[in-house]
Amino acid sequence: MEIKQYLTTVNYTPSTNKQNKYIVIHYTANNGDTAQGNANYFHSINRNASANYFVDENEIVQVVPDNYIAWHCGAKTYKHPYCRNNNSIGIEMCSRKDKKGNYYFKDGTVNNSIQLVCDLMNKYNIPIENVIRHYDVTKKLCPLPYIDDAEWNKYKSLLRTALKGSNLEDKKGEDKMYQNINEVPEWARNTINKLINKGCFPDVNKLALTNEMVRIFVIMDRWIGLKV
Ligand SMILES: [Zn+2]
Repeated sequence: MEIKQYLTTVNYTPSTNKQNKYIVIHYTANNGDTAQGNANYFHSINRNASANYFVDENEIVQVVPDNYIAWHCGAKTYKHPYCRNNNSIGIEMCSRKDKKGNYYFKDGTVNNSIQLVCDLMNKYNIPIENVIRHYDVTKKLCPLPYIDDAEWNKYKSLLRTALKGSNLEDKKGEDKMYQNINEVPEWARNTINKLINKGCFPDVNKLALTNEMVRIFVIMDRWIGLKV
């Protein structure tokens, strides 16, 4: 996924030891704005606010590097005990208004933000429970389309689906499948090669072997020797 960078020169606090433990989702409260338009707005004039990323239906623009502190969820009083600007990454989703005047996100904006959150979770080993709303940090009604818990839960379940097959999911040792001999771990290649040579797999590029299956084959091979 491509991320454009258009870094602000003023709206951030530099840091040498920022640890990214939370991802905070916001909405821009605009109607028809773009990621690049926001990046321009925050670029060189002090706005006393910022975010690390702006997302619209077409692209993602980074405005503050992950290791620097963006000004997205600071407040006088907090609802969340730990999440602050200095340990979180702020993502602003560009919003739209429907005919009734209600804010919503276009599907493309949702998808782009999910991709970005997924990448950041993997990069910084951030668990899904630490992906939160601005509302969860300060009670501010942001992102308005997700203040309703049911809507927020829909977003989280999309995120959960996107995480399947990503590195974070792999770390749990679940769902990972080896599809060809090069993906099979070295300790098992000899065994799996025997099975391939025997014609056990209809398609050698779709082995669909889980780690558990590979282990069983290797144990069998070492125990009784797979007949070839
Ligand atoms: Zn916000």
